[in-house]
Amino acid sequence: DCRQPPLGPIETTLCNYETVESVNDELFETLHQLVETPFFRYYKVDLYRDCPFWEDDDKCASRDCVIRAVDESKIPAKWRSSTLSKVEEPSLELKNSLPGCYYRDSDYCYQDDLSEGGEFIDLIENPERFTGYSGAPARSIWKAIYEENCFGQLKEAIQAETYSPLAMNPLLKLSPPEEREPEGECLEKRVYYKIISGLHASISTHLCYEHLNRETGEWGPNLECFIERVASRPERLQYIYFNTVILLRAIARLGPYLNAYDICSSNEHNDGHAQELLTKNQIRSVISIADRVGKFDESILFRGENAVLKEEFKQHFRNVSSIMDCVGCSRCRLWGKVQIGGLATAMKALFELDEKTLDYKSNPLLLQRSEVVALFNTAHRFTESLHYVDEFRRLWAIAENRE
Ligand code: FAD
Repeated sequence: DCRQPPLGPIETTLCNYETVESVNDELFETLHQLVETPFFRYYKVDLYRDCPFWEDDDKCASRDCVIRAVDESKIPAKWRSSTLSKVEEPSLELKNSLPGCYYRDSDYCYQDDLSEGGEFIDLIENPERFTGYSGAPARSIWKAIYEENCFGQLKEAIQAETYSPLAMNPLLKLSPPEEREPEGECLEKRVYYKIISGLHASISTHLCYEHLNRETGEWGPNLECFIERVASRPERLQYIYFNTVILLRAIARLGPYLNAYDICSSNEHNDGHAQELLTKNQIRSVISIADRVGKFDESILFRGENAVLKEEFKQHFRNVSSIMDCVGCSRCRLWGKVQIGGLATAMKALFELDEKTLDYKSNPLLLQRSEVVALFNTAHRFTESLHYVDEFRRLWAIAENRE
């Protein structure tokens, strides 16, 4: 019975998918308007860090990979680097151990907001779409990300008393890609795989929908590309829904905190107060839809003897955020960082924060601006993928009728 949104374990029931489907048009439209507002369209990110794992001389030379930064004078003073760097400086020890990428204890990814360097990028002007980045470099990145799924190292390290989160930074081996679903494995490992595979499928859906036909020079949906990369493997589509539900659950949980968040959009380039009210109303609408849909019981994860896997899960996400510095195409790197940042914020909301910490008045710095921006933009990406899936279904029906 799908009339009631299910409140079961994270993995179960098709109802979650049907419920998402029933609200996706409304949700996508609201998120679409929201991410166009000044608060959500400018994202601070450092796209020029060296890859910490291997030599990255495989830069994408295509002009579709290139993006341009925003002139900082257009950005409200409160969001600028100088102000941001005053917020919660990481410890010297941490700075020394990971120059250029810092995190706070509860974070699931390294925060570019807190680092020196970085620029504001206009996410609307630089959409995720086909760039031509492919071949061995792109595959190595995906392989490295899937290989982060080697859970259990931490359990063994703790038993051997050699545990140190920084020492757990990835030992990446580069052998040919292999597609393996971790069936029969623990729930935590399966959840990690589904999140990554869903992200991969969502990126594929975007690049197939906004695809460049190199022969005609025209942009448009490429049905064959979508069938090959996503539709021929139905579980990949399911994982797009899976990620959407996780993001909505996190937004619902953070609802009161996000409603109180100081979005401070005013500067000389926009109409300040009116803009803020509009953005706040849109945030409220998204939260109210998320309240209806984002339902499952996340407490089932990291329970009992698997409690120890939570640190490892977090470390995997941090490692994936570092792997993004190895992506050789700026546009792909940008959207990889935004979406890993958004998913990491969702994980933090679900697994790290208790009700007491969620009060904005007593804990206004709980989420950095970049975390809030990434969370909503990532939710937008996934609902957009589902919207594109509907379009592909339509195109497929037309093609079928023609035959
Ligand atoms: P890939 O997509 O590279 O996949 C490699 C292998 O992984 C496949 O052979 C398959 O075995 C397996 N696989 C594929 N999909 C899944 C899945 N959903 N779940 C599990 N396994 C799977 N390109 C763009 O044009 N625009 C972008 O914005 C963009 N962003 C990117 C962001 C990141 C972080 C990365 C790593 C790459 C990005 N790319 C982007 C490149 C794109 O994802 C592909 O790598 C590229 O198009 C080459 O595709 P491919 O067919 O070789 O297979």
